[in-house]
Amino acid sequence: MATTDGSFNGMTEHCDSCGLDTLHEVSVQIRTESIKEENAQFSREPYRVSECQQCGHRSSQRMNNA
Ligand SMILES: [Zn+2]
Repeated sequence: MATTDGSFNGMTEHCDSCGLDTLHEVSVQIRTESIKEENAQFSREPYRVSECQQCGHRSSQRMNNA
């Protein structure tokens, strides 16, 4: 079963909360990290967010490792 029509980004990944490999919904979010105002233009970071469809646990990781 591998329908990639873009409507649902389902990925099987390990969930720390379930302790199992479960279906995750994966999306990318741009988060603004407003630590300092003068750096605001540099602080929008893309995060890869995956949400476990089993328990709802969300994990996110920064895509740019600077
Ligand atoms: Zn889970």
